[in-house]
Amino acid sequence: MSRLLLKGGRVIDPAQGLDQTLDVMISEGTIEEMGPRVQPRGAQVLDMKGLVVCPGFIDIHTHLREPGREDKETIATGTRAAAAGGFTAVCAMPNTDPVNDTAGITRAIVEKARAEGATRVYPIGAITRGQKGEELAEYGDLKEAGCVAFSDDGRPVASARVMRRALEYARAFDLVLIDHCEEPTLAEKACMNEGPVSTHLGLRGQPAAGEAIVVERDVLLAELTGGRVHIAHLSAAASVDAVRRGKARGVKVTAEATPHHLFLTDEAVRETGYDTNTKMNPPLRSEADRQAVLLGLRDGTIDCIATDHAPHTVDDKKVEYDQAANGIVGLETAVALCLDRLVGEGLVELPYLVALLSTNPARVLGLPGGTLAPGSPADLTVLDLAKKRQVDASRFESRSRNTPFGGWILKGWPAMTIVGGRVAWKDAR
Ligand SMILES: [Zn+2]
Ligand SMILES: [Zn+2]
Repeated sequence: MSRLLLKGGRVIDPAQGLDQTLDVMISEGTIEEMGPRVQPRGAQVLDMKGLVVCPGFIDIHTHLREPGREDKETIATGTRAAAAGGFTAVCAMPNTDPVNDTAGITRAIVEKARAEGATRVYPIGAITRGQKGEELAEYGDLKEAGCVAFSDDGRPVASARVMRRALEYARAFDLVLIDHCEEPTLAEKACMNEGPVSTHLGLRGQPAAGEAIVVERDVLLAELTGGRVHIAHLSAAASVDAVRRGKARGVKVTAEATPHHLFLTDEAVRETGYDTNTKMNPPLRSEADRQAVLLGLRDGTIDCIATDHAPHTVDDKKVEYDQAANGIVGLETAVALCLDRLVGEGLVELPYLVALLSTNPARVLGLPGGTLAPGSPADLTVLDLAKKRQVDASRFESRSRNTPFGGWILKGWPAMTIVGGRVAWKDAR
């Protein structure tokens, strides 16, 4: 395997507390050494002057849609989108068709990803068979086949009894449950957040309390069982509060937030005139909720930023607002949005953002990577903080185009993605 020397970049590795100009030598798919002046010794040299070199970004919440909805996304197109967005690994949610609830399906995903994936793919298995919320899946078999966590994402686990048993069972395998928190009886037929905007627009809303009730429940159940729960796409102020209090008590709870909940509110539904690319679940919330999520991100209550990349066809979105599919694509905009709106606005320091996108996701799910320490996998994300560009959905690698961020001008973009010591993507524009 070839050797690569990344020369003269600003190397940020939160795991080692590093932020300085260094050379990084990659050999045999691992980080070999790092230093102020590393001799090439026959390696291919890549000039990193003016660029930032980070441990590879890991998206722990991606919908790749394969198997079953290859018209929306495939493992090949989804991982190309990930690489182009600065991610070196994605965790694939199990709400495919069929649902990833057996070892055979997990193995098929792992094999396909190995053959066609531009990035690493870590499958997530279902909490319950068919994601029906009743019988638990076989966690031991799923783990052995390659699953790194369990989730019924797309749906909540409605029964507290089932959730309790799932936490106990997952604990035996030392794996995390990723929790889509939604009280179904409060969310019925809703298509946006409940509040003044939904009232004004005449659309049925779901209250933020419907999310927070389940976050509270599952923090308590994690405490009861000693199991580990990770709250997906946290969107409500009361949910942030529940996680914060749980962590203070020593409960094994972690959480993620998405760029859309950090940078948009339910006002976007009104402002865009019912653009269905503002429709997702959980919905865009109020400004007070958004501020609370931002605060939770800054004070360490929220551990990671995840995309909830949810590709849909034009037909699934070009319908009445209440009929439209939930979700937006996120892999190719998340990093640029965070660089522009969090780091650019001075809300978060760059090393802290790198931790939110790399070190912390690796820690939360116990994945390889998340550091550039010698011996680690050679997964790296290179950033160009000076690059200014408009979001252009027509140029996405993803098979789908459903983004509310089209036309946004953002400063700071991924420049290169290296996976296992090979350049998986390089900005050619
Ligand atoms: Zn979800
Ligand atoms: Zn999701």
